[in-house]
Amino acid sequence: MRRLLIAGNWKMNLTAAESQALAGALRKDLDRDAARLGRDRDVMVAPPAVNIPAVARELYGSSIGLGAQNMHFEDRGAFTGEVSAPMLKEFGVVYVILGHSERRHIFGERDEFINRKVLTALRHGMTPILCVGETGSEHDRGETSTVVLRQLQRGLDQVPEGELARVAIAYEPVWAIGTGRNATPGEAGIVHGAIREALRDRSGAVADQVRILYGGSVTADNVDSLVGHPDIDGVLVGGASLKAESFARIARTGIA
Ligand code: PEP
Repeated sequence: MRRLLIAGNWKMNLTAAESQALAGALRKDLDRDAARLGRDRDVMVAPPAVNIPAVARELYGSSIGLGAQNMHFEDRGAFTGEVSAPMLKEFGVVYVILGHSERRHIFGERDEFINRKVLTALRHGMTPILCVGETGSEHDRGETSTVVLRQLQRGLDQVPEGELARVAIAYEPVWAIGTGRNATPGEAGIVHGAIREALRDRSGAVADQVRILYGGSVTADNVDSLVGHPDIDGVLVGGASLKAESFARIARTGIA
């Protein structure tokens, strides 16, 4: 059985004080249920990098894990504006979202670049969440699986079979991100199945341990049906992770 992963991506929202307040409210709510939630799922949030110290203080000792939205693949050097794995780890960051569609399409990140970050995250014992997903026009042209499987294969280049289970994949159709139009569980399930098959072809049985999340307009209202699909192992949540009440509800998916 794969553990669910419920991930909140706060993007470039919230000041340090606001981030701390949100983390505090989430902790108050979810830590009450920590034993029950901890049985079958991991919950994490990824604040803006500059707010990580404040959130790390707030979440110290909590059941809620800490993630970053991005990082560089080098440990140090002349890379103005970037943060590295050792810097993040010092604050207890365990997860790192890599290749988010906003990084790919707004900041021009390429698969090769993202792949180096995945390898760096693994080298540092972090859990990379590798995002893949087709744009609306690729979707309309019927290119979803070609695009997604290409991003998957390139993003995982040189990841040893023994390390693959530590990677989480997030299928995030670009047309569903921040649009209020989520993929249905059936639509996402088909892509998740194709991802799983590709992982099996690449690495055999270890593929069954890899968590494949869905992301794109997940809300407290649609999460149950999405996560109820056997091929969907969790969610990556943007907008609905910015309110403690909605993210806590999402984190409790499937629990009465
Ligand atoms: C995201 O940030 O990865 C995302 C899926 O955003 P939203 O939930 O707002 O669509």
